[in-house]
Amino acid sequence: MVSLIMDGIKTAVFCDFDGTITRRDVGYSIFHHFSNGRNDALLPDWKSGKLSSRDCLLQEAAMAPVTEEELFPFLDQFEINPGFPEFVEQCREHDIDLFIVSDGLDLYINYLLQRFHLTSLTVIANHAYIENGHITIEFPHHNKTCRRCGSCKGERIQEYRDKYDVKTRIIFVGDGYSDACATTEADILFAKKDLEAYCRMHNITYRPYDDFFDIIRELEREAVFSKYAV
Ligand SMILES: [Mg+2]
Ligand SMILES: [Zn+2]
Repeated sequence: MVSLIMDGIKTAVFCDFDGTITRRDVGYSIFHHFSNGRNDALLPDWKSGKLSSRDCLLQEAAMAPVTEEELFPFLDQFEINPGFPEFVEQCREHDIDLFIVSDGLDLYINYLLQRFHLTSLTVIANHAYIENGHITIEFPHHNKTCRRCGSCKGERIQEYRDKYDVKTRIIFVGDGYSDACATTEADILFAKKDLEAYCRMHNITYRPYDDFFDIIRELEREAVFSKYAV
């Protein structure tokens, strides 16, 4: 086991869930399916920043009635992206903190992590439960300045940095607009799909990736992970 803080630098990974750990966007799929596609009308305003994530999620939940008996079997169709279990293992072996940061809902994230046999991971997300045939959403993470996000990933990273006196090195992995606030906080940024487009548009340096095996290889090159298990 390598030491917790190598060369006085504390490394942590913040990783998006929907479309990053899972192949498809689970939150979107739930609201799309159970609202019969009516949620799509909200998305242009959300993508442009006119509609906050909190208001978007609350409106989506209101238009998508669902019971537990309907939701959990629906979730069983979603698959994990290749290399994520191996990536989790590499982080563990190198004593690197790994957080799942999502502006989606812990309700489906925890269910799917259990199905993927990855229950030891820390999840930072909005809180949700099913009550009277609807998803009820709460926002336990307070954002100091961001008005756009439900739980702002940039502010979660800042909170982490504030906890340590030593220098931190933050690796972020994401795929969408809900990752935008994290892009300026990350030291190493992996981006694909909408997040890649966002980075290009805003001239933000990023590394493209397809699955977690790409990320493992890249972090071996950077010597964040040693090539051979420690
Ligand atoms: Mg995503
Ligand atoms: Zn934000």
